[in-house]
Amino acid sequence: MASIRIENVDKTYPNGHVATRGLDLHIGDGEFVVLVGPSGCGKSTALRMVAGLETPTGGQIYIGEKEVTEVPPQDRDIAMVFQSYALYPHKTVRENLAFGLRMRRVPKGSIAGQVQRAAATLGLEEFLDRKPAQLSGGQRQRVALGRAIVRDPQAFLFDEPLSNLDAKLRVQTRAELARMHKKLGATMLYVTHDQEEAMTLGDRVAVLNEGYLQQVDTPAEVYCRPANAFVAGFIGSPTMNFFSGVLESGDGGCRFSCNEFPFDIALDESLAAASGKVQLGVRPQDIQIVSANEADVTAKVDVVELLGSELLVHLRVSESQGETTRAVVPESVVVREDEVVGLRFRRDRLHFFVLDSGDRLN
Ligand code: ADP
Repeated sequence: MASIRIENVDKTYPNGHVATRGLDLHIGDGEFVVLVGPSGCGKSTALRMVAGLETPTGGQIYIGEKEVTEVPPQDRDIAMVFQSYALYPHKTVRENLAFGLRMRRVPKGSIAGQVQRAAATLGLEEFLDRKPAQLSGGQRQRVALGRAIVRDPQAFLFDEPLSNLDAKLRVQTRAELARMHKKLGATMLYVTHDQEEAMTLGDRVAVLNEGYLQQVDTPAEVYCRPANAFVAGFIGSPTMNFFSGVLESGDGGCRFSCNEFPFDIALDESLAAASGKVQLGVRPQDIQIVSANEADVTAKVDVVELLGSELLVHLRVSESQGETTRAVVPESVVVREDEVVGLRFRRDRLHFFVLDSGDRLN
């Protein structure tokens, strides 16, 4: 296996559309990195440039020590798995797995062994003599993965490989992918718009927006310390709540006063040089429903949704509030629609962002 280095890569399409700008991303040997962002942010373009299906308009790409920026796809020794499985319908699973090897004139005896190993890795042994039409969507995607594995490439590239599967199968296949990564110790770059997929699969997650890399870090760090308001709003479900206001630093502490709603929060920690207009971000999971005397602010319960072991509570801090504030609380908490409750924000889980730039303050 090999590392992948994307260095200062720009891509402007012939129509003038800028898909990536100054993209820098290093994927270590054996590492699983997920590139995630909203639709149109440039993630497929980035992946396709690593595969050699698009040529960068600036910067370099390396696979291992070799620069491949201008090298055609077939000479890059990488395997790509797409959303559509593109299996040969008239060939069996065994023949589908063997096809690429046959094309590359790998000796017959060796092909059988490689196919067997890939089938074992993915639990496909019992399906080897079936045709794709006799398989479920998840099994077909496994065959597509198997076809990538038998090639024993320097790195694997995945472009939204699970988006054709239903929710249950997606979770199952996701676990299989994670297992496969562990087993093979393979270098993997994986593209998805689904933040949950990114968070569960990646050793590291790279968040892209409008062609610019926003943050590259472990899932825990991206979730707990988002680098800016975009990452904070994109990662995590339900979406983070934002409140705009003013931060004033004083002796050994500071105070946030909300513009829209009547609440302010005193903080022990001093956010040095952090005074000014800010956005406060609070994840729904970090809002507790409390009695009025403990509350940071009171709110009227709009809608309560049962998520299973938890409740998703939509609240209105004021009548005029456009979007509701969301809180996720244990299912045992008693809340009724239209009642007025107290909300308390967990002090150690507050996120502050500069209003103009969106950059993280704390
Ligand atoms: P993502 O994978 O994040 O959804 P893409 O990398 O596919 O985004 O596309 C990034 C942007 O570049 C989009 O706005 C898309 O419309 C544009 N784009 C993609 N391919 C081309 C192309 N061949 N010519 C012009 N614009 C393109």
